[in-house]
Amino acid sequence: MPHHTPLIATIVAGLVLAFIFAAIAVRLRVSPLIGYLAAGVVVGPFTPGYVADQSLANELAEMGVILLMFGVGLHFSVRDLLSVRKIAIPGALVQIGVATLLGMGLAFMLGWSLVAGIVFGLALSVASTVVLLRALQERKILDTERGKIAVGWLIVEDLVMVLALVLIPAMAAGQGGNFGWAIGITVLKVAAFFAFMLIVGRRVIPWALHEIAHTGSRELFRLAVLAIALGVAFGAAKLFGVSFALGAFFAGMILAESPFSQRAAQETLPLRDAFAVLFFVSVGMLFNPNILFSHPVALAATVAIIILGKSIAAYFIVRAFGRSHSTGLVISASLAQIGEFSFILATLGASLALLPPDGRNLILAGAIITIMLNPFIFALIDRFTVMEAKDSAPLPAAPRDKRHIVLVGYGRVGNLVGKGLLAAGEAVTVIETENDIEGLPSIDEAQIVIGNAADPHVLVWAELDRAKMLFVAIPDTFEAGQIVEQARAINAELPIVARAHSDEEVAYLTARGATRTIMGEREIAQRMIADAKAVA
Ligand code: AMP
Repeated sequence: MPHHTPLIATIVAGLVLAFIFAAIAVRLRVSPLIGYLAAGVVVGPFTPGYVADQSLANELAEMGVILLMFGVGLHFSVRDLLSVRKIAIPGALVQIGVATLLGMGLAFMLGWSLVAGIVFGLALSVASTVVLLRALQERKILDTERGKIAVGWLIVEDLVMVLALVLIPAMAAGQGGNFGWAIGITVLKVAAFFAFMLIVGRRVIPWALHEIAHTGSRELFRLAVLAIALGVAFGAAKLFGVSFALGAFFAGMILAESPFSQRAAQETLPLRDAFAVLFFVSVGMLFNPNILFSHPVALAATVAIIILGKSIAAYFIVRAFGRSHSTGLVISASLAQIGEFSFILATLGASLALLPPDGRNLILAGAIITIMLNPFIFALIDRFTVMEAKDSAPLPAAPRDKRHIVLVGYGRVGNLVGKGLLAAGEAVTVIETENDIEGLPSIDEAQIVIGNAADPHVLVWAELDRAKMLFVAIPDTFEAGQIVEQARAINAELPIVARAHSDEEVAYLTARGATRTIMGEREIAQRMIADAKAVA
């Protein structure tokens, strides 16, 4: 038996239990996230048996936050960030204001001090980066306008938190005069970080990655990406006092303009997902079930503020800016939870004796409950928006007497297929997650369903039951397999043609019910051979 190895024990216990509980959760048809949280409760200090090291778990969770925010940055350009500032800045500020006031109201009723109320309210007002990003990624809406608004909103919240973390110790010291100073210095540091990244980082980082890519070593490239993500995040926190998350986001955003951003994102995926799991495990560890019995009413009020107070405020702000009902719902659902920032605030507040211990426990319990409820809230709004979409669905371009072909994905492959089918006079229904794809046919030319084809509602809406054929032209084989399986369940006779990249994928898709699979690499090779024959 080796010596004391708490880090290994924490990682192993976290991942193994998360896996077991997530497998159970998936069996029970709930989000695997619930399984991760449950795993955390089991290794947490409030349940008997093995107890993992909480502070190590928190650090591992921070790694998850860094890698996630880096990944988001990779999909974001400076232009994207600026394009949503008009709604994200006022939106986040007003929503933080409303939630903080609600929290202060509850604190007042519980007889806490004004400062305790402010800390408590602020903690309830910020959403968790990890939970929000996971929800958006799962629904493939990260790259859409509403996804960008949500991320911009998150960045503003993050900046407010950076300020709050500086101001709270000043509040504790009770030095009113230092307040202005503290704000001024923090703003200067954040501005210095932005300027440094935009002027120096923007030149050096893409250049470095370019050079590494040309060494041809995949290993070195992967290492470079990780070094950049972690190095910038850590440096930003140590040198400029901004959060890890914000530093990582900026590192990613600067790489987004590089032609290697796609590859960089892929290289960090497995690590990112593993650490994101540890994030949820570490949240679960904080949960003390006692609070359910000692303060049921205060806890219910806390949860209501997070889920209802924040989201209703956010919904009306989004609507006030002229965005659609469904955008409003998505943003509200995204924000209807709290997480890592709230823990940091709660811990800081408690350690400075600004926040009573009950306040901290309410925040922790509120976080775990709202994170658990979040997938259900999204499922609820999915139902509402599908209904809305159905009600406002465009009428068929022409009464369709002939059976249609359903095409999933309108990217590099799908758009060629679509154009070919339309030119051949076929009736086509396109399913695409993105609504601003270039060259998407107009609604006079084809039926367009915006949504994730892996969602059975969406397939039903595309009238798959009476379709003539289905093409699945998306690159993600795992997801394509889900789509094929659902489609097969809806229509047993349907010819289904799917896209694959390897022999394993061909086997996988065939097993799920694909009639035919086209492997891009094989087709390319055949064309090359044909060219060789033509020359010979
Ligand atoms: P490409 O790899 O360029 O052929 O692009 C694939 C296209 O499929 C992109 O436009 C994606 O937005 C779209 N797509 C990916 N997954 C799904 C899905 N589950 N449902 C509908 N469209 C999807």
